[in-house]
Amino acid sequence: MTRWDEREMSGWGRYPVVRSRVARPERRADVFEAFGERNGHGFLAHGLGRSYGDAALIEDGQVVLTRRLDRMLAFDPDTGWLRCEAGVSIEDILEVFVPRGFFPPVTPGTKFVTVGGALGCDVHGKSHHVNGCWSNHVRRVELLTGSGDVVFCDAENEPELFAATAGGMGLTGVILSLEVKLARVASPYFEMDSIRVENLDHFLEVSADSQTTTNTMAWIDCVTRGRGMGRGIFMRGEVAPAELVPDPTALDKAMRLAAPLLDVPVDGPNWLLNKGTIRAFNEVYFRRHPKGAKRSVVHYDPFFYPLDAVNNWNRIYGKRGFLQYQLVVPRDPEQRALRAVLDEITKSGMGSFLAVIKEFGDQVNGGLSFPIPGVTLALDFANYGQPLYDLLDRLDAVVEDAGGRVYLGKDARLSRASFQRMYPEWEAWKAVRDRWDPQGVFRSELGKRLGLCAEGPA
Ligand SMILES: Cc1cc2nc3c(=O)[nH]c(=O)nc-3n(C[C@H](O)[C@H](O)[C@H](O)COP(=O)(O)OP(=O)(O)OC[C@H]3O[C@@H](n4cnc5c(N)ncnc54)[C@H](O)[C@@H]3O)c2cc1C
Repeated sequence: MTRWDEREMSGWGRYPVVRSRVARPERRADVFEAFGERNGHGFLAHGLGRSYGDAALIEDGQVVLTRRLDRMLAFDPDTGWLRCEAGVSIEDILEVFVPRGFFPPVTPGTKFVTVGGALGCDVHGKSHHVNGCWSNHVRRVELLTGSGDVVFCDAENEPELFAATAGGMGLTGVILSLEVKLARVASPYFEMDSIRVENLDHFLEVSADSQTTTNTMAWIDCVTRGRGMGRGIFMRGEVAPAELVPDPTALDKAMRLAAPLLDVPVDGPNWLLNKGTIRAFNEVYFRRHPKGAKRSVVHYDPFFYPLDAVNNWNRIYGKRGFLQYQLVVPRDPEQRALRAVLDEITKSGMGSFLAVIKEFGDQVNGGLSFPIPGVTLALDFANYGQPLYDLLDRLDAVVEDAGGRVYLGKDARLSRASFQRMYPEWEAWKAVRDRWDPQGVFRSELGKRLGLCAEGPA
């Protein structure tokens, strides 16, 4: 018998909060056992809970936390293919494989994600324009499907099921294990250029000039209007050759000593984030960087995962939680949609600390996978309730009209009608999902809201 604990759960944004029964399987056999104890409740895999909204949540459902399925099963140093269980995290991969000269092929802005969660959201990173998404480096996905059968799928075997699972938000089954092709790296350091960009047009110019650099992104100020709209710091970088690494031992030690010192131990008060503090923060961040460009050699931690240095940083938004909104809009020389979005945000006074902006490449994976060619922008908003939801509805309308979409891995409130217009592939995706899960076993709050799965008991 599985041990089921009833508890409250939320995503990284701490909104919404639901009650579920939770199991922590340690072996594959435990997952099968838990699956057999559904009793008509919705069933869902949950990795490290770094999706922001309700993708990994199911009210009154049964949730398997995959984190203890963390075995590395095989590795081929000639090719870089690693076979591992779904609960292995990117942090685990970094710890074991960076010293051996390998790195994850794609990484999001936190290393605290499982490989199963990375496929469930088909995550992208700073290298999307060169490397595509996580699923473009994955094969032999072992999936527990709605019938209780285990199916191996990838781009060659059961390709439709694979495409529906990549970005399928856990709704095609439980990923038990997969193979991922790690990339060779000459060192754990990155040679980084940071460039102060004065506005949105300048960002686009620097981005266009940086297309041959593997990793690119920028932080932009989203409270300044007028000529300075979209000003910020653009960062681009490549793995540093071993001879450029200054003194790795000393730096490594310093990083490890510093990391646990930073923590947000309690919820921030609601007044902490207001128009004034956010404006001041954006100003300081921008002015701190001298005009023009700077070059430095930095460890992969601050290069890819600056927010991971602060434990529980999501508490800064207080008990009410926060929402992240990530959009992508097709390229447009005038960037009308981006300007309209930034304008709406600054007018609303609910601006975020900093926004992340990046140009995606041409790799499109279809199904519910998020990236399409264009510019993506991600912003955090304290949960101001209805005024915020109204603002986000207005942003949805701008994004939809521009032929863009929002990222489901960050979402907690998109309407079904907007979703269906943003992801016209949804019907084809659902036909595949329904074929593999005719009884509607796999369910989530996001899936119910967007019409991707059954709403009631199976
Ligand atoms: C600071 C921060 C930065 C981020 N930066 C990026 C970024 O740059 N790019 C990006 O794409 N995302 C980014 N994200 C989002 C994050 O990478 C994704 O949401 C990722 O999927 C989280 O992995 P997880 O293991 O926590 O999965 P969870 O959040 O637990 O689950 C995510 C989805 O995957 C499904 N899932 C999880 N495990 C399995 C499994 N074994 N089988 C089937 N389905 C499963 C869940 O049901 C859910 O639908 C960021 C998040 C944070 C907090």
